[in-house]
Amino acid sequence: SSASHVVREELARHIGEAGIQARVVKTGCFGFCKMGPLVVVHPGQTLYCLVKKEDVPEIVQSHLGKGKIVERLLFAEPDTGERKKCLSDIHFFRAQHRVALRNCGLIDPEDINEYIACDGYFALAGVLLHWDPSRVVEVIKQSGLRGRGGAGFPTGKKWELAAAASGPVKYVVCNADEGDPGAFMDRSILEGDPYSVLEAMTIAGYAIGAREGYIYVRAEYPIAVDRLERAIAQAREVGLLGRRILNTGFDFDIDLRLGAGAFVCGEETALLRSAEGHRGEPHPRPPYPATCGLWGKPTLVNNVETYANIPVIIRNGAQWFASMGTENSKGTKVFSLAGKIMNTGLIEVPMGTTLRTVIFDIGGGIPGGRRFKAVQTGGPSGGCIPERYLDTPIDYESLKKLGSMMGSGGMIVLDETDCMVDIAKFYLQFSQDESCGQCTPCRVGTKRMLEILERITQGKGRMEDLDELADLSREVMDASLCGLGQTAPNPVLSTLRYFRDEYVAHIRDKH
Ligand code: SF4
Repeated sequence: SSASHVVREELARHIGEAGIQARVVKTGCFGFCKMGPLVVVHPGQTLYCLVKKEDVPEIVQSHLGKGKIVERLLFAEPDTGERKKCLSDIHFFRAQHRVALRNCGLIDPEDINEYIACDGYFALAGVLLHWDPSRVVEVIKQSGLRGRGGAGFPTGKKWELAAAASGPVKYVVCNADEGDPGAFMDRSILEGDPYSVLEAMTIAGYAIGAREGYIYVRAEYPIAVDRLERAIAQAREVGLLGRRILNTGFDFDIDLRLGAGAFVCGEETALLRSAEGHRGEPHPRPPYPATCGLWGKPTLVNNVETYANIPVIIRNGAQWFASMGTENSKGTKVFSLAGKIMNTGLIEVPMGTTLRTVIFDIGGGIPGGRRFKAVQTGGPSGGCIPERYLDTPIDYESLKKLGSMMGSGGMIVLDETDCMVDIAKFYLQFSQDESCGQCTPCRVGTKRMLEILERITQGKGRMEDLDELADLSREVMDASLCGLGQTAPNPVLSTLRYFRDEYVAHIRDKH
């Protein structure tokens, strides 16, 4: 943020003026957004929170000059008030397990040497020098990694299909078109650790037999775009991208494609159309991109977080990854916490962690002493989960059973002051605005549903409207071509299921 930028400039200036031997390193997001701007002093990992320009002289003179910690800027645990000196002592961080976010907030995302110093590119080197492509695919399959973009398709299976597809030209694509309201997982990974995605895509290229990769990233993420461009240039410069990588016979290069902010372009067939330079409209599957994708060639598409897991799976082994999580959802998941929650920010936890742990333990609960009402997961394709399911372990299947979905990892917490009909209306309005308009059930069906919701919230609803909403939802889901339309009614259906009384109250009380 610009506030962090000011603090960084000020630190550099004061350190220079004081003649102290210290380096100011900018990093990506730590995830503790509520407490930013953050400054970590090494060695010792001392974390200073909510640092302002005026605090900088004291940090420099006291801590860096005399070795005396500035107590007033340390984080105080809300329950005990105890000031924590070290980043790893703070409960928000201690309760997490960072795999995809391992380098975020730690390395300078504009310096490839810092990535390499944290074991970056060791996986690629090992694979290119010692592994057959088929062994890479086998390890990813064994790890149990599933797509982190939403649907949870087994990643190894996707790689296997793309590797088995015939043809001399294949592509590796990264879906960085994060579009759910309140979601910023992929953005933080790209801004904090772009190299992990480049390394993973290069490994994927070797595994499936591709020589070119594309990252389709939102143009609204200018810092991510800038850091990716720098990372690609640096990787090329040191022989980790381009011709004869690491002096092997393997060539692979990566280019960017900028998306213009259409939510539907997060759907993989629309994304590929858009990357080709056409209008971003989904088309029916099969054929799947693994056999017929970019320019009709076999194409592997994974999202940012999925790729960020790859190098560390290769380094630590499939069993290590599979030992985390639940039976069918392995590893960890990154979530962005937003809405009515104390610790808004970015977290990563093992799959199977309960919603209660995420919201009340790591997230710090609801501000202002208000009562929790629901958590919305999966963005416009997901649903609202009420209080009685807070002990549900987070995995792909459990969330689906509750009428929601994992999605890419956005979690929006709602409290007792939120109207659930308004929430359903907000998400449906979003889907309706973002519908590409290609098929009638999605284009017109969501519009009719929205009209009913408008009527209800204006106090003009009838009880029959509730049945009509449910019927229309089913029709839109059954008859839409792509995931956007097929899941657009979820927020309405889940609120009808768990908060029907609020719909009824609007209708009966005419408010
Ligand atoms: Fe477009 Fe909606 Fe049809 Fe998807 S379901 S293709 S977004 S109109």
